[in-house]
Amino acid sequence: MQGLMMDYPLTLTPILERAPKLFGNKEIVTKAGTTLERETFAEWAPRVARLANVLEKLGVRRGDRVATFAWNNARHLELYFAVPCMGAVLHPLNLRLPADQLAYIINHAQDSVLFVDPTLLPAIEKLASQLKGVKHFVVMGDTVPETTLAPVHAYEELLRGASDAYPFPQLDENDAAGMCYTSGTTGNPKGVVYSHRSIVLHSMGLAMTSSFGIRESDTVMPVVPMFHVMAWGLPFVCVMVGANLVFPGPHMQPRDLAELIQAERVTLTAGVPTLWLGLMNLLEHERYDLSSLHTMIVGGSAAPQFLIEKMQKQYGLQIIHAWGMTEMSPLGTVSRLKKAQLQLPETEQFALRAKQGLPVPGVEIRAMDDMGNEVPWDGKTFGELQVRGPWIAREYYRDERSADSFRDGWFRTGDVVTIDAEGFVQIVDRTKDLVKSGGEWISSVDLENAIMSHPQVLEAAVIAVAHPKWQERPLACVVPKPDFKDTLTKKDILEHLRARFASWELPDDVIFIDAVPKTSVGKFDKKVLRAQYRDYILPER
Ligand code: AMP
Repeated sequence: MQGLMMDYPLTLTPILERAPKLFGNKEIVTKAGTTLERETFAEWAPRVARLANVLEKLGVRRGDRVATFAWNNARHLELYFAVPCMGAVLHPLNLRLPADQLAYIINHAQDSVLFVDPTLLPAIEKLASQLKGVKHFVVMGDTVPETTLAPVHAYEELLRGASDAYPFPQLDENDAAGMCYTSGTTGNPKGVVYSHRSIVLHSMGLAMTSSFGIRESDTVMPVVPMFHVMAWGLPFVCVMVGANLVFPGPHMQPRDLAELIQAERVTLTAGVPTLWLGLMNLLEHERYDLSSLHTMIVGGSAAPQFLIEKMQKQYGLQIIHAWGMTEMSPLGTVSRLKKAQLQLPETEQFALRAKQGLPVPGVEIRAMDDMGNEVPWDGKTFGELQVRGPWIAREYYRDERSADSFRDGWFRTGDVVTIDAEGFVQIVDRTKDLVKSGGEWISSVDLENAIMSHPQVLEAAVIAVAHPKWQERPLACVVPKPDFKDTLTKKDILEHLRARFASWELPDDVIFIDAVPKTSVGKFDKKVLRAQYRDYILPER
């Protein structure tokens, strides 16, 4: 017997249509230079319709890919809906990728139109000769500046000439809506293609109170870029529930963010740990009223326990730790404590909150050993995390590497984890970042987090260095806070670690560097350090 419910397609169009009807006065705020630009949902929706007309006039048809090369801003949000709702596929490009990878991605996705922020034009001009498939460039501003791109149009001029009525087509919920490429560490980036259905379900997932819990009363500031897994899906859920959106544009320094939170009374923000380490450092010297903020979602890399603890105790700011991946839209796990865990001593609660957390409804997990057996949920045994669910990719876009990652209906994440009896996942390391010392494994993440909890340390990365006897041993690369550049010593760091780690787990050496290199999405880029210190000779212990 079948259920007798409507076969109602899960597409973005009803989300676009309900926003102006139900939340017409809610705002999209963008920081542009020294001013704040404001647009209500009532003003935004007709502009989305105009944009859909423009796209059609530029020759965009169902299934065509439309690229964006832009900061987090209101025009980008217009593209986020106009492109998929007229049946095409939105492809935000990572602004920080090297030119060869950008050209690869644009050609691999076969982008036919490319929208670019005026300040970012030079990067695209440099590539233009390699982009055979791009038929139009659109500069996201009032007029076209001096440029070598052709044919090129100004966003506002195109919109002015277009009708604000557009008959959005009936779409299949499995039609592609958007695509993002993973920030690959080796080889070319891999394309992930999201469907309307996966984005709608993922948005509902983000709205659940046990995950991000985003609702109408929120003012959300996504600091995670709109090219990094669609700003973790935040733009979609905000339009769905009618939350205000605040976009920092290119202004992402800690002071810019603190000022925006204060001025716009932001209630929820999200980004990678390095951003919030920077903000915490700023708060040590300058005062801001951040009392409106009830949640800071931190993910993309491990949120160190001391960050969660200090933000809460010293500044009353609640960090919620979450884990995800480009292949997962990205929501996977969220670390909110269960009712019984709220009775635990404070330090145990913080330790649990520093884990990556429980899989959200919709995401199924298991951890597997090298022999292909599931490891027990004992909080101790390591295994590779595998996942499946309705917003998880089933293959990469036109890429033969799919076979390595997708097997038997599961996606192999490449993250090594433990899962405890309550179901809390803890990421031990990326497979390739584990330090394999003798027969034992040392988690570089644990060491890094402990080192960064030293009050005189700004950042730290731990890498494996070849060792004649033990195969690999840990090397700690530490960035002292500016005031302690000349005084912090190797001994200080090792003393700090000694209480928490067995002596065989301690780094064999500690070196001081100016900054930890970052990837294009702001995570620690350990492959650069590994290459730099490949031949490093560790001292005798
Ligand atoms: P990306 O697809 O660029 O978002 O990268 C996904 C990878 O980032 C995951 O496979 C993890 O290795 C890492 N990652 C994401 N969130 C976390 C987190 N909360 N803690 C530790 N690692 C994380």
